[in-house]
Amino acid sequence: MKFRPANKIQDLQYFGEFGGVNPSISDSATYTFLSAKTMLDTFEGQADGCYLYSRHTSPSNLYLGEALAAMEGTETANVAGSGMGAITATILHFCGAGDHIVSSRTIYGGTYAFLKNFAPRFNVNTSFVNITSLDAVEAAINENTKIIYCEAVSNPLLEVADIRGLAKLAKKHGLQLLVDNTFSPMSISPIELGADVVLHSLTKFINGTNDTMGGVVCGSQELIDAMRSVIDGSAMLLGPSMDSLRSASILKNMRTLHIRIKQHSKNAAYLAEKFEDLGLKTVYPGLPSHPSHELFKTMINEEYGFGGLLTVDFGSLEKANALMELMQKENLGYLAVSLGFYKTLFSAPGTSTSSEIPEDEQKEMGLSDGLVRFSIGLDNDIERTFRMMRRCMNKVGILESEPQETL
Ligand SMILES: *Cc1c(COP(=O)(O)O)cnc(C)c1O
Repeated sequence: MKFRPANKIQDLQYFGEFGGVNPSISDSATYTFLSAKTMLDTFEGQADGCYLYSRHTSPSNLYLGEALAAMEGTETANVAGSGMGAITATILHFCGAGDHIVSSRTIYGGTYAFLKNFAPRFNVNTSFVNITSLDAVEAAINENTKIIYCEAVSNPLLEVADIRGLAKLAKKHGLQLLVDNTFSPMSISPIELGADVVLHSLTKFINGTNDTMGGVVCGSQELIDAMRSVIDGSAMLLGPSMDSLRSASILKNMRTLHIRIKQHSKNAAYLAEKFEDLGLKTVYPGLPSHPSHELFKTMINEEYGFGGLLTVDFGSLEKANALMELMQKENLGYLAVSLGFYKTLFSAPGTSTSSEIPEDEQKEMGLSDGLVRFSIGLDNDIERTFRMMRRCMNKVGILESEPQETL
């Protein structure tokens, strides 16, 4: 049977304390106990339904976590104050001194910098590979390898990971497959395809209003319990906790996630096709020209499309910058990092979100100067948006001929 992430979320029923249609917000950092014995039991992890301190967890954080776990089809989840908070705590849960990671080389700049520059301080070392080559992934595995790390759809190059193939490799070698699904919530369900753990930056599509940071790790009860352990849990001890007020607001935004993703995908697919028709070097997983288009089709939850992200290579940083400045002036979007907003966001990853990656490595992975990443917004009239974008491209000399139609 098809996996339906939005149905799973909607099948959860929460009531507020006084019959509210939204769950009550647990606006407390600490919690009382009716008996001293229960306090001890709770610290030892044996008093279900009791709360001890909000760095550990809170009712509001559990509500949000359960919705995210339902979306990804995991037993449970643990929310964090940012995507990096969830990612780093999870990696440090699985890996200690002497352990090794095989990671995609095209991943979020912060994750790349953590694996490349920070984790080696703990003698946790990473081999960065071309994730689209299962042979390259397998060749990089050694006897110390603990995890395979990738993004379902990668930042910023929109490479698509063969999650089924990677899961087989992980099983064969006794590894955990961790998938960052920030770019493709709802469209791809990594657990269904064999992944062990799913991570998200909630800051992007899932919250969708760019008013807060957030992150989550979705996995087994055993994993989340271990990460929350007061004795040696990475989430508990590193403390990337989310505030309850924020988890309540993110949960409310999740109510419309399925509708937003459909609109982001529809708009991005329209623009990608038009851009490609203009002869622009466009990368979008929904285009048949994308090297992993067919693979994506084998993994997709169809109704949500191929996502809201696309890239165009405008040839040079100067042209890319001129275009982005003009598009912002024309109110077509914002020159900003991040993604998943109602408004289109654009940036040149080589000089922004991926600037942590040294220039020669950027070249090797195909990240060129003139590359612009677009997170396409929820525009109601995407045809008008396209006409206006085309006019901007004309003005900055990216396109040769003046289009005939008037706006
Ligand atoms: C933004 C992002 C992150 C980091 O999340 P924060 O919420 O900014 O900490 C991780 N992975 C991907 C793919 C991202 O886009």
